[in-house]
Amino acid sequence: MIYLDNNATTAMDERVLDAMLPFMKTMYGNPSSVHRLGRIAKSAIETAREQVAALIDAQPTQIIFTSGGTEANNLLFQATPSYLPSNDSVKFAISAVEHSSISESAKQQHCAEVIPVNSDGLIEKETIFQLIEKKPNVVSIMLANNETGVIQPIAEIAAQLSEHGIIVHTDAVQAVGKIPVSFAQLGVQMLSLSSHKIYGAKGCGALCVDKSLSLKSLLFGGGQENNRRSGTENVAAIVGFGKAAELAKSELEARSSHILALRLQLEIELSKLPRVTIFARNSPRLPNTVLFGIDGIDGEWVLLTLDKKGICVSSGSACASGATEPSPILLAMGIPPEKAQTAIRVSLSHQNTVAEILEFIEIIKSFGV
Ligand code: PLP
Repeated sequence: MIYLDNNATTAMDERVLDAMLPFMKTMYGNPSSVHRLGRIAKSAIETAREQVAALIDAQPTQIIFTSGGTEANNLLFQATPSYLPSNDSVKFAISAVEHSSISESAKQQHCAEVIPVNSDGLIEKETIFQLIEKKPNVVSIMLANNETGVIQPIAEIAAQLSEHGIIVHTDAVQAVGKIPVSFAQLGVQMLSLSSHKIYGAKGCGALCVDKSLSLKSLLFGGGQENNRRSGTENVAAIVGFGKAAELAKSELEARSSHILALRLQLEIELSKLPRVTIFARNSPRLPNTVLFGIDGIDGEWVLLTLDKKGICVSSGSACASGATEPSPILLAMGIPPEKAQTAIRVSLSHQNTVAEILEFIEIIKSFGV
């Protein structure tokens, strides 16, 4: 099998699993318990908090562990800027290319303001000037897109917005572990993370929150996570997230130069094929992501055909009531639906090899493109 779907999820790193296992076997204490097993679990969570904070150049006290990127993204909608009396009066704005955990949450908040992107998938400076005139309180723009890999200039956008007292959240779920991410340097007030995208366990993530912000909890109960997220912590997964973060930090350079070399090789080979288009090719992109389409061939067909040959990729389309819909991300970039429907996403990891890329290319060529 060749696994080229690492933006969907990654294989757990053996070292992460080794760090997690004791917390499922012998060190099973509840972190809220006062006895020694409880204290061991509590201290392991605090170590993980330090490791996750270090990965994104933040303070450990700014990290709230959640059940994943989706929960972190939902939680941001509970944020209330300190100058507003309640979050009922908060005006949110989100970009047109957000993950569904942002776009669907925004719908619940009756968030009407959607920030457009250009045909390269990027938000332009001028668009931000226009957004400021609409006076939103909280703006959410992802750091890197899960389908195209396009990286937004978040530091510049945040600087523009912060001058007007606007709070900025960024979904860094796909960026972290692939490019350097510094909470401090980005200048945002909130940032979402997910463990299973960086070789950790599924069902675990975090929201990093600036101290100046008050957050209403989504979950009430025992007051865990400093009263911001009640519920007994998923200790093993959090410990694994910490280990995954530590490895992502120490191995970032080696991992990203390997995946970038593979991506470039893949793109050189793909661009020799006349019917292939690489979407957002000229934009700053994650080193691991290539979204491409073959003219006249449905992405879903390619996905299923590759699957039969033991190759795992994603198509850009989403299944809705039995029919495939073209990717909203590509539509937001102004790509015509029939072209968007051809999209296939390859997302690499440092575990992929040159031989796998060559095999993938040979199979794509066999489609007569
Ligand atoms: N944000 C982005 C950009 C994602 O790609 C994903 C998952 O694919 C999420 C959020 C959701 O993260 P999780 O799977 O941890 O809920």
